[in-house]
Amino acid sequence: MPDIGKNIVGVVLGCNNYEIVDLGVMVPAAKILQTAVEQRVDAIGLSGLITPSLEEMEHVAKEMERLKLDLPLLIGGATTSRQHTAIKIAPHYSQTTVHVLDASRAVGVVAKLLDSDQKSDFDTENRELQAELREVYGRRTRKPLVSYEEARSNRLKIDWDAETLPRPSILGRQVDTDQSLEELVPYIDWTFFFTAWELKGRFPKVLDHPRYGQAARELYANAQALLERIVKDGLLSAKAAWGLWPAHSEDDDIVLFNDEARQDELVRFPMLRQQEAKPDDSMPHRSLADFVAPAESGQTDFVGAFAVNAGIGVDAMVARYEADHDDYNAIMTKALADRLAEAYAELLHERVRRIWGFGHDERLTKDDLVAERYRGIRPAFGYPACPDHTLRGVQWDLLQAETQAGLRLTETYAAVPTAAASGIYLAHPQARYFAVGRLGRDQVVSYAERTGMSLQEAERWLKPNLGYEP
Ligand code: SAH
Repeated sequence: MPDIGKNIVGVVLGCNNYEIVDLGVMVPAAKILQTAVEQRVDAIGLSGLITPSLEEMEHVAKEMERLKLDLPLLIGGATTSRQHTAIKIAPHYSQTTVHVLDASRAVGVVAKLLDSDQKSDFDTENRELQAELREVYGRRTRKPLVSYEEARSNRLKIDWDAETLPRPSILGRQVDTDQSLEELVPYIDWTFFFTAWELKGRFPKVLDHPRYGQAARELYANAQALLERIVKDGLLSAKAAWGLWPAHSEDDDIVLFNDEARQDELVRFPMLRQQEAKPDDSMPHRSLADFVAPAESGQTDFVGAFAVNAGIGVDAMVARYEADHDDYNAIMTKALADRLAEAYAELLHERVRRIWGFGHDERLTKDDLVAERYRGIRPAFGYPACPDHTLRGVQWDLLQAETQAGLRLTETYAAVPTAAASGIYLAHPQARYFAVGRLGRDQVVSYAERTGMSLQEAERWLKPNLGYEP
């Protein structure tokens, strides 16, 4: 996802006569702080839309403390929360650090912070709230971890002997260039479009929202008009790299092969497993590896991977709008390209289920698809079931996603263009999303070995999941 929330904050503050210095996306801490000092700003705002940026925010807070800056730090964006701000960011910075829930509140918060009469009360209240959130978190996280060994022996047990695993009719790496945009439109999940604009609520109900229904309807009409132009004039284009391969699991690794005899190993995705104590002994400690037939079952299973890109042409469109000072349509373009990427992921997944066989008899409406009411899942690296972003590197090599789909990975493993979606395909009917949660040192040591990272590196990438002090 792009920087929509941040752009909206900029526009809203600008309308209220604040001067904004927008440094763009994925800006190094040093540059943010240097600009803040040079331009003598009154406050710094950070926006986070992907999980690695959470870590980066922590780093910025530490740097602000080290440099003894005396500026309020504002935190916002889809992946942030007041909890995260209170627990992970505020403790590193002795000046005001405040979470801004959505763009509409930015003006109120900034006004209070910059008003010498109101600032002190606001700060006290904010600090009290944050102390309380840390207290609640502290109580919650004392939930014990079981050993990695115990977690592994309590995996989800599937009776593989009783299974007939479907065999895809196409195997190996595939490339789809020039996906029709028109075909993608019905697959768009509009609820998330409104979320990107800070209008929360299910689509289409959000159009009748008592407070912002009118705004939602206008936004929707404008979105439809621009989308129609994008489709008709071919202003954007989309392509994908994807594939299905013979596979099995080896302990907690998912291994993909060139051949169905599973001799010629292609890539290995080491997975993580839940270690938090379960309230009930009958509940498994889950890992995505559990949904793939183990080597010792003797069965050939299949696993897929995909990377879709709907961002080709976005930069050019945005540049044209920005040259016209038309921020609104620049943001709208990014929001629509994002929606097209997610829609493409949904459409491609539907095709893949057919190729896999079990999707042939699917009779699902577009609503069912958007609600993911089908067999199989497409977990994305960096999300709760597989939180290590670095596996995208392995996935990119497998798919040759850069040359074939035009998707580059940044240092933090974010895809560029940002109007993209990627993941792996798992087909087992019991496959579902979950969160691996906090991890013990024993598992992280094993994970480091399995991935070839040093322990320090593994701890850095898994930081949000560490259940111990490294
Ligand atoms: N239809 C929405 C869905 C996007 S987010 C949209 O248009 O924006 C849903 C995707 O996030 C899933 O398809 C999956 O790829 C990923 N995902 C969600 N929860 C996950 C989890 N717990 N672990 C791994 N991936 C997850």
